[in-house]
Amino acid sequence: MADLPFFGHIINGEEVESLNGARFDVVNPWTQEVFAQAAEASAEDADRAIAAARKAFDEGPWPRMGRVERAKLIHKLADLMEERADELATLDSTNMAKPFAQAKHDVARSVSNFRFFADHQRDSVGEVYPMDSGHHTYSEFGPAGVVAAISPWNFPLMMASWKIAPAIAWGNTVIAKPSEDTPTSVTLLGRLAIEAGFPPGVLNIINGYGVPAGSSLTEDPRVDRVTFTGDSGTGKIIMKAAATHLAPVSLELGGKGANIVFDDAEIDNAVYWAVEAIFRNSGQICLAGSRLFVQAGIYDEFMKRFVEAAEALKIGDPFDPETKFSALASQKHFNKVKGFVDDVPGEGGTILTGGVDEEGRWLVKPTIITDLPLDASAYCREIFGPVCVVNKFETEDEVVHLANDTRYGLNAMLFTENLSRAHRVSSKLKAGTVWVNCFFIRDLRTPFGGVGDSGVGREGGNFSREFFTEPKAVVMQIDRG
Ligand code: NAD
Repeated sequence: MADLPFFGHIINGEEVESLNGARFDVVNPWTQEVFAQAAEASAEDADRAIAAARKAFDEGPWPRMGRVERAKLIHKLADLMEERADELATLDSTNMAKPFAQAKHDVARSVSNFRFFADHQRDSVGEVYPMDSGHHTYSEFGPAGVVAAISPWNFPLMMASWKIAPAIAWGNTVIAKPSEDTPTSVTLLGRLAIEAGFPPGVLNIINGYGVPAGSSLTEDPRVDRVTFTGDSGTGKIIMKAAATHLAPVSLELGGKGANIVFDDAEIDNAVYWAVEAIFRNSGQICLAGSRLFVQAGIYDEFMKRFVEAAEALKIGDPFDPETKFSALASQKHFNKVKGFVDDVPGEGGTILTGGVDEEGRWLVKPTIITDLPLDASAYCREIFGPVCVVNKFETEDEVVHLANDTRYGLNAMLFTENLSRAHRVSSKLKAGTVWVNCFFIRDLRTPFGGVGDSGVGREGGNFSREFFTEPKAVVMQIDRG
């Protein structure tokens, strides 16, 4: 294994091995081969990353640097990411079988996360509150401190950048922990931050498992904020850990998105987005449109077109430019998704198309299911794979009830050409984001997050500022009367 690429921890401006020398294998899920190794953090490695971040925050230049200079350095990092975009995308494609064009798209969105938050903090203004008492109060947004940023494997670089960018932009120092399944692109990001000239300890990255690498971060009282994206169950564990030292948490968790197609929908558009919403990234998207509700009048025509479009997706090697759909991100995840699909016939469901790959790949084909009872596990639980469960509905009230009847509330989509209905239904849906006649479009100024088991808090624009700063009120006497 000595000649495999190695991805260390980035601690205090250097790439290092674990103190005990431990490493783990990194697997390419398309070839099913080990293609790299990464350092495996113990609690001692997490400890030295926290110490580095703490020192950089308490004594280093980063939180004290002017906002313009800090923005310049973050833009420098974004420039380097653009220069190395192919390499970053290659790592994500290799590491989780994401089609290369989609990985390039993710790199571009990651770059824009850094640029947006650099500019947002640079140009942000406080508020002044004139008071009748002869005083005025103004607000300041100082950095919160040391941030632990724990991210999942489905958008390895993009999810990490979505946390790291606002945290560092607002003057915090960070310890990021990417998923153990996908350590590679985020480690390269850490190398680029060193190259960009970030002061030591501002962006630390530790690789390793949830326990002990992630848990050592969330349980440590030297950590001031925890931002986490991942499974709802893990989110609950993390919230408890952070509560022991009262660190605020931002949790972006699972989803079971409702996608509602009304009779009057523009059918080409609705089919296009229904496919994107559940089959892009092999369905490994928290925002997936995994519960599809189609109104009776358009049902037959829509379903015919939806099944045809799913079957037309070119399945293959993520580096083949024709490929639109590839393997799942790991063998473990494949086994989980396969388990749901295997149970469908026993639970009364009909598989219209798709199913588990017969060639031994860690792949589940674009799968569309009907006839499932509403208490079936594939209908209720997050599968996080390319599996769409379809139901027919008659009325608006009925579909609003069906869509909201879930513990999750991350997002919903609806397709209609009736303007009043679009607004009316959007406001009734229990979801952090509702997309009307589209999907996955984001403006970074807007709130992003979920309701119920889908999360706690919102990030984006000023919502990120609230979380990654300690807003302060300064009250001044201006008139002694
Ligand atoms: P996961 O919860 O298993 O792991 C996420 C991260 O948490 C990993 O880095 C993991 O090592 C770490 N972790 C695990 N246990 C931990 C612990 N006890 N303490 C600290 N850290 C710990 O999730 P996953 O399987 O990597 O990701 C898939 C999940 O992420 C899905 O549920 C998906 O819906 C969700 N997700 C949500 C969003 C969103 O924005 N809401 C976006 C992407 C993914």
